[in-house]
Amino acid sequence: MQSFKEKDKKYIANTYGRFDIEVAYGKGSYVYDINDREYIDLSSGIAVNTLGMADDEWALAVYDQLKKCQHTSNLYYSEPCVRLAEILCERTGAKKVFFGNSGAEANECAIKVARLWGAENKGSEYYNIITLKNSFHGRTITTLAATGQDVFHKDFTPLTEGFLYGEANNLESIEVLLKENKCCAVMMELVQGEGGVLALDHDFAVGVSNLCEKYNTLLVIDEVQTGNGRSGELYAYQCYGLKPDVVSTAKGLGGGLPIGACMMYEKTENVLKPSLHGSTFGGNPIACASAIHVLNRIDSKLLSEVKEKSKYVFDTLNGADGIESVSGLGLMIGIKTTGDVSIILQKCIEKGILPIKAKNKLRLLPALNIPMELLVKAVDIIKQVASENK
Ligand SMILES: *Cc1c(COP(=O)(O)O)cnc(C)c1O
Repeated sequence: MQSFKEKDKKYIANTYGRFDIEVAYGKGSYVYDINDREYIDLSSGIAVNTLGMADDEWALAVYDQLKKCQHTSNLYYSEPCVRLAEILCERTGAKKVFFGNSGAEANECAIKVARLWGAENKGSEYYNIITLKNSFHGRTITTLAATGQDVFHKDFTPLTEGFLYGEANNLESIEVLLKENKCCAVMMELVQGEGGVLALDHDFAVGVSNLCEKYNTLLVIDEVQTGNGRSGELYAYQCYGLKPDVVSTAKGLGGGLPIGACMMYEKTENVLKPSLHGSTFGGNPIACASAIHVLNRIDSKLLSEVKEKSKYVFDTLNGADGIESVSGLGLMIGIKTTGDVSIILQKCIEKGILPIKAKNKLRLLPALNIPMELLVKAVDIIKQVASENK
């Protein structure tokens, strides 16, 4: 008999390095392995399980829809996806929404919208999109091209043409690119998640927005990871006071079910026309019912709790023994330890908490409703482990 882990190695494409834990079930911010060992979940499925594991009310909302209709196709009207789009528009000022199934797909849509807008408003040679070095926008060939990190590009070339890379927090680098190239958009994350949980400077983000006005280009914000309450506002651009033209989101939107959305604002709402884009599963009723429930739970009370919990983590870890710096926004937090991060992560797991890594940092992405006492317990463990392994 092969062990479960051997079978995973044998049958699953070898793309992921896994921790030596088999998650079997969970409740809220507790997860349990097959031997019923308990852990405090600090990554919530990489910012996906917004309300934690197997939340009762969420499960009921999903089950109610599951009993009615699991899928219709986009050839018919379907209530859950319209209701979800309406909620998103009302809470963001977006005008129209396109639904897909993942972050990469949301970004593919954003990129197509930007190019269509460029062709329609400036000319088809205005296809270039400026993204940032150290960004992450997805794994498809085009979203890899958008991703400003060479390590992801190697051996996948030629990638989709037309992406130029500026430097985060260097406004000059963006203006040079805008001036010297025919561009339709600047696309960026406001907190570079995979890049090491780095929040853009407020002045830089506002500056890019002003440059987009000046050079008549779109501002596209990738909120795949920062979105859906994680920043302490529904979308991180609301923390920065920006007025984007396109916003993509996914991860936490479905609370654990696959859904991505590309939101279009005033300048871009009429760019997509019949047959220019599509997705078979896009707007799936189960995923939409799930997202409606998640958004309804992300109310002002939950958002202020996110801010409070964030402040607690920053205040407690900033300047603590063995901790060099704390970065990020809301409940998207990077911790630079003086000691080896891989060793520290392993010790954290041994002590029953599950953070993850981003570059050379410990990364925390807990469920937004993680109880304060669990967060306190987890942060204490991080503090202790960082100090013992500095
Ligand atoms: C995770 C992520 C993506 C890709 O999302 P998938 O659902 O894995 O395709 C894109 N952009 C950002 C900022 C992300 O964090």
